[in-house]
Amino acid sequence: MILHKSFEIGKEGHLTIDGLDAEALASRFGTPAMFISEDAVRDMCRMYQAAFSKYFGGASAPVYAGKALCFKRLYTVMAEENMLADCVSSGEIATANAAGFPMKNVFFHGNNKTDYDLGYAVEQGVGHIVVDGVEELLSLDKIAADHGVCQKILLRITPGIDPHTHKKIITGNVDSKFGSAIETGDAERIVRLALSLENVCLEGLHCHVGSQIFDIAPFRDAADIMLRFIADMKEKAGLNTKILNLGGGFGVRYTEDDPEIDYAENVRLLGVEIDKMCEQLNLTKPDIHMEPGRSIVAAAGATLYRCGSVKEIKGFRNYVSIDGGMTDNPRYTLYQSQYTVLNASKAAAPADFECTLAGRCCESGDLLAENIKIARPERGDIIAVLVTGAYNYSMASNYNKVARPPIVMISGGKPYLAVRRETAEDMMALDV
Ligand SMILES: *Cc1c(COP(=O)(O)O)cnc(C)c1O
Repeated sequence: MILHKSFEIGKEGHLTIDGLDAEALASRFGTPAMFISEDAVRDMCRMYQAAFSKYFGGASAPVYAGKALCFKRLYTVMAEENMLADCVSSGEIATANAAGFPMKNVFFHGNNKTDYDLGYAVEQGVGHIVVDGVEELLSLDKIAADHGVCQKILLRITPGIDPHTHKKIITGNVDSKFGSAIETGDAERIVRLALSLENVCLEGLHCHVGSQIFDIAPFRDAADIMLRFIADMKEKAGLNTKILNLGGGFGVRYTEDDPEIDYAENVRLLGVEIDKMCEQLNLTKPDIHMEPGRSIVAAAGATLYRCGSVKEIKGFRNYVSIDGGMTDNPRYTLYQSQYTVLNASKAAAPADFECTLAGRCCESGDLLAENIKIARPERGDIIAVLVTGAYNYSMASNYNKVARPPIVMISGGKPYLAVRRETAEDMMALDV
């Protein structure tokens, strides 16, 4: 196993993905191509659901954050797994809808939903809208009235936690484009306003503290702040909170340097803390929602590329160029995100060739990794980047008019095309 259970070295000395030979996959589907283990995605959904119902209780449930990876077939899988879904645009809602994902199970997020978005969501029967601010709340109330419905909502609250230092920031927590801060009194004002409106039905509160979080500290702090606020609002304004959503952010192991994470154990530990807090505050425990995106799809994915050139610059570095790059995975360019890279054609050979993995764009910054070691490649070798399921395809672009790769799902050891490779015609389809 390499990092995650989908990745192994097969008999031929090639990388295998869910038991399938990477060279064979690359010949059949072409390169670059993204592979997603449907089995691994389903396993993660089931693991979260079981842990939430066991340790959070009631109707607590995970909500898949579709911004991590969004295409129709994935929503069909999510629907089959009875997942809830977090959508962040009318485009994501439309994708879920087209896949037959039940709209009542959608939570609609975003810091600046337009009136069009709100109208579309209400029309489609989106279950909950996570309202970000006062203007949106007032606009939604009117739109819901026009449609003759009472729209269920959550309010996005800013608890003021820095997930990286794991400290509650006592001051300065107001600096976010998202939500209403407790500290400034905005949170209280929007709760009171929501309770006074006729066409929205306030079911609970939401917060999101960050991403790539490896322990429960930021979630525990968020729960603590949110539950105190809930108790306060119950007393002052008669708020009845059915749902507390603590957002997404569970981390993923991208390289050997990242810790292994036991998600169910984290949920258990968090559940214990939440129970204690509710008892202390004399609160009926709301249903707990969280919104894992990355941790559901990242480790299910790998991208296969073909090596085009190996350029050794004596005294400097070695560049291995591949037939994709920042257009299908902008995360290294954006955040210097670290990945596990290997020569999938020579996966059993010693990884002793130090190199920089370069994409094909006319852009020096188009790199996927630097100072990595892989088995010395040659033109034609398959280069694999592992753990690419999240925030790769969903962030892909057509820069340099490079077409996006296909997405191949693997289910029970059988690969099938879920999203076809983009063509030059696709890229020109909007040119009038
Ligand atoms: C990005 C985001 C998520 C998903 O975060 P992951 O790190 O992918 O788990 C969930 N909820 C909200 C509101 C987000 O912005």
